[in-house]
Amino acid sequence: MSSVPTRYTDPRAHELRDRYLATYGGAELPVPVESIAEDLLGLRIEERDLGECSGMLRPAERLIVVNATEAMSGDTPTHRLRFTIAHELGHWICHAQHAAAPAPTYCRTSDLSQDTDRALEREANVFGAELLMPEAAVRQAWAAFLDPSGVAATFEVSALAAQWRLYSFGLAERPV
Ligand SMILES: [Zn+2]
Repeated sequence: MSSVPTRYTDPRAHELRDRYLATYGGAELPVPVESIAEDLLGLRIEERDLGECSGMLRPAERLIVVNATEAMSGDTPTHRLRFTIAHELGHWICHAQHAAAPAPTYCRTSDLSQDTDRALEREANVFGAELLMPEAAVRQAWAAFLDPSGVAATFEVSALAAQWRLYSFGLAERPV
């Protein structure tokens, strides 16, 4: 794996956030990822025990499933689920919504890490990070807190997700 921070963007994530704000208004942060999925895109979100998977997208049913076990673990449990939902929205927007017969996507916990070697999973991770943590707002929060946990609280993401995002902008150390 390369140790050089990857700068990444995905304009589709910004378009989706803008579309939501134009339609529903409300606060920009934390990004209302569940409402984007359910109200704007008409997807359902369910919690189930998914074993070694963190999340699943079943496009034909317009269904996102998140791992109920992970809902009860981690620093602030719902924060971890927010990233899983954003990741599955990445699969929906980037891989499923315009496909003729999109297959279900099963996302292992390792696929939701920045180190995943699967291209579609990486794309969903980039999308998810961009959706939840817009660069300008991350830089602003970093300037205010100079602390990954303050950034994580602002965006309601896990400390690890915040740390990866800061790392990609060259603002913090690579997560271990
Ligand atoms: Zn995935």
